[in-house]
Amino acid sequence: MHRFTEETARLAEAVFQAALDRLRAEPPPLGRPAPADELSARAGPTITPGGLGPEGALRVFREVVAPATIPADHPGFLAFVPSAPTKAAALADLLLGVSSMVGAGWIDGAGAIWAENEALRWLADLAGLGPGAGGCFVSGGTAGNLSGLAAARQAARERRGEGPGRWSLVTSTEAHSSIRAAARVMDVDVVAAPAEDGRLTAARAREALDRAGGAAFAVAATAGTTNAGAIDDLAGIAGLCEERGVWLHVDAAYGGAALCAPSVRGRFAGIERADSLVVDPHKWLFAPYDCCALLYRDPSVAPRAFAQEAAYLEDANAVPGWNPMHLALHMSRRARGLPLWFSLAVHGTAAYREAVETVLRLAREAAEEVRRRPALELVREPELSVLLVRRRGWGPRALQAWCDRMLAEGRAFVLPTTWQGERVLRLCFVNPRTPLGLVRELLDDLAAA
Ligand SMILES: *Cc1c(COP(=O)(O)O)cnc(C)c1O
Repeated sequence: MHRFTEETARLAEAVFQAALDRLRAEPPPLGRPAPADELSARAGPTITPGGLGPEGALRVFREVVAPATIPADHPGFLAFVPSAPTKAAALADLLLGVSSMVGAGWIDGAGAIWAENEALRWLADLAGLGPGAGGCFVSGGTAGNLSGLAAARQAARERRGEGPGRWSLVTSTEAHSSIRAAARVMDVDVVAAPAEDGRLTAARAREALDRAGGAAFAVAATAGTTNAGAIDDLAGIAGLCEERGVWLHVDAAYGGAALCAPSVRGRFAGIERADSLVVDPHKWLFAPYDCCALLYRDPSVAPRAFAQEAAYLEDANAVPGWNPMHLALHMSRRARGLPLWFSLAVHGTAAYREAVETVLRLAREAAEEVRRRPALELVREPELSVLLVRRRGWGPRALQAWCDRMLAEGRAFVLPTTWQGERVLRLCFVNPRTPLGLVRELLDDLAAA
């Protein structure tokens, strides 16, 4: 299994060919999930004493596994938050997979961590966090939010000694579900401030902090909500946090990509005052899964929250350099920021700015297309690239049936969401190759159906 043989060479050819076919597919088939027993029946037993051999395993991958997934980079994938890796980033991921680099500590991962830090520097500078900022890549916004908030509590504990009986964090009712999940894991209370038109205002955050009565260690603001793409009043909230001595965590998992887009950069004013910041390059910065950038304005507090000490780590911890393993809750880690770095190095930041602006333009044009169709109504002016659309005369069942049909016909993967108590259609754009023509066709169908 570990020797490079003739058989390995043939498998390599076949895998590279499959990877090439996938990279060339424009678009890849939309795919359709299926029940587990159906997939088992299609594949037959796969984990067997004798093995299936290279051809057998690759056949199951191509014929059973891949077709039962909906590729997030399909131009018609407009549900959740899609993904659209550059070819360079996808290829770097392939190379990373065979390189066995450990991105945990400088002792054995220096080169990979250095490259990741180049990409983190770009993001920190886009946000304006200052020269001292740094962090690491974690698996996703969920892990990033948990680590940022745990560091925030550590800072509060250090500043306030004993602290309250129970800590709490302030966030808006429109914050991502992972903020509440992180609070549950950390066993802290959530004081939810009502969002206004999807946004947390400084006034609402102030009321919530008052309600928390000194027990709050952080405000978790959102720069680009998942549901509507709304950006909280970051400058107002930053001022409030400074006044109260409370950590500002900004969840920009989806929206942070738009920091590189001049047409909307002004909406993020105040983000430079964040104590911690999360951006998911696997969403709108064209990196493959899984990749979340976690940044601290002053990273020195993070090791006091996360560092691991043990006899077998003494040498690693003694090496001067950057140790991602101490900056979040993890140790062994894939250098998952490397594909982003590689693609940035290949294409340059101007290409990223252009690609993000292309998506923003697409969202604005799509909003115009909605306005042109009397059967449709734009629920909310898009701030970033999420569109909420009302189909007049339709209830939730009809909307769901339409979404199901779009997937069954292999045209698009779209889903409804709930906005202020009403089921509406939600379209999220991150792929610069999603054609406006496809959006027009979908809207025509929705308006006519
Ligand atoms: C997607 C998202 C998350 C969670 O990110 P994962 O990478 O899926 O863990 C957190 N916050 C916001 C605003 C998001 O859009």
